[in-house]
Amino acid sequence: MIPTTVTYRIGSTLLFLGCLTFLGCASKTDHEPAADSGAHSWTYEGETGSTHWGGLNTEWAACSAGRAQSPINLTAAALSDLEDPVFIYQSSPLHETNNGHTAQASYAAGSSLQVDGKIYQLLQFHFHSASEHTIDGAHTPLEVHLVHQAADGSLAVVGLLVEEGSSHPAFDAVLAAIPVEEGATVSPEGITVNANDFLPTRRTTYRYDGSLTTPPCSEGVTWLVMTQKIQLSAEQIAQYVALFPGTNRPVQPLNERTLSQDAF
Ligand SMILES: [Zn+2]
Repeated sequence: MIPTTVTYRIGSTLLFLGCLTFLGCASKTDHEPAADSGAHSWTYEGETGSTHWGGLNTEWAACSAGRAQSPINLTAAALSDLEDPVFIYQSSPLHETNNGHTAQASYAAGSSLQVDGKIYQLLQFHFHSASEHTIDGAHTPLEVHLVHQAADGSLAVVGLLVEEGSSHPAFDAVLAAIPVEEGATVSPEGITVNANDFLPTRRTTYRYDGSLTTPPCSEGVTWLVMTQKIQLSAEQIAQYVALFPGTNRPVQPLNERTLSQDAF
């Protein structure tokens, strides 16, 4: 099913779920929007599209006024001797939601990411099409975001750029299970996923300080985009795109920020 319009997503329930696109179930209560924000929703196109987000809700002002927004074009990165992130991922039962903006899978407690001496717990992963980050202005067909949160509430997101190529079996169950119905969640019995299987072999990254790429566009997010792309088959990519044909926020200005890349 290909949605013919994006405005049908307006609705208080979908707004709430949409705000969790990045934040995941574990942070639900910490980040629950104010009750009056339920009157507004957002889309990727049209009158509530990305260029309007900052004006739709006072709590989303960072979407237009922020100076450290995501995504960005990954180019002209400063080569640095960055410490590789350490992934300590366990498998998790698949628990996947169509939140009206994307397909998002919550992740069981106990998987973590260590970056620059700080530990972040993996909360959830989700998809965007086309990719949100670009390299030298070029999108890839998909991007996977692995969203992590530290004990102090700060977020680190790992971005995986997906190019078309070989089939990637680790994504088979995830893509097959995406609920068609907005607001629906599925937990297929006996199906587990391990995000470790999603990662490319090289652990080098682009690194910068950015934001959520969906409202409320909160800043202070540590971004790590893997420099090595992963591959999914055309058929696998189509499974997501058929349901979510345009779920990427356009790239934002770098402004005063530094974009770093591992000097490997
Ligand atoms: Zn995302």
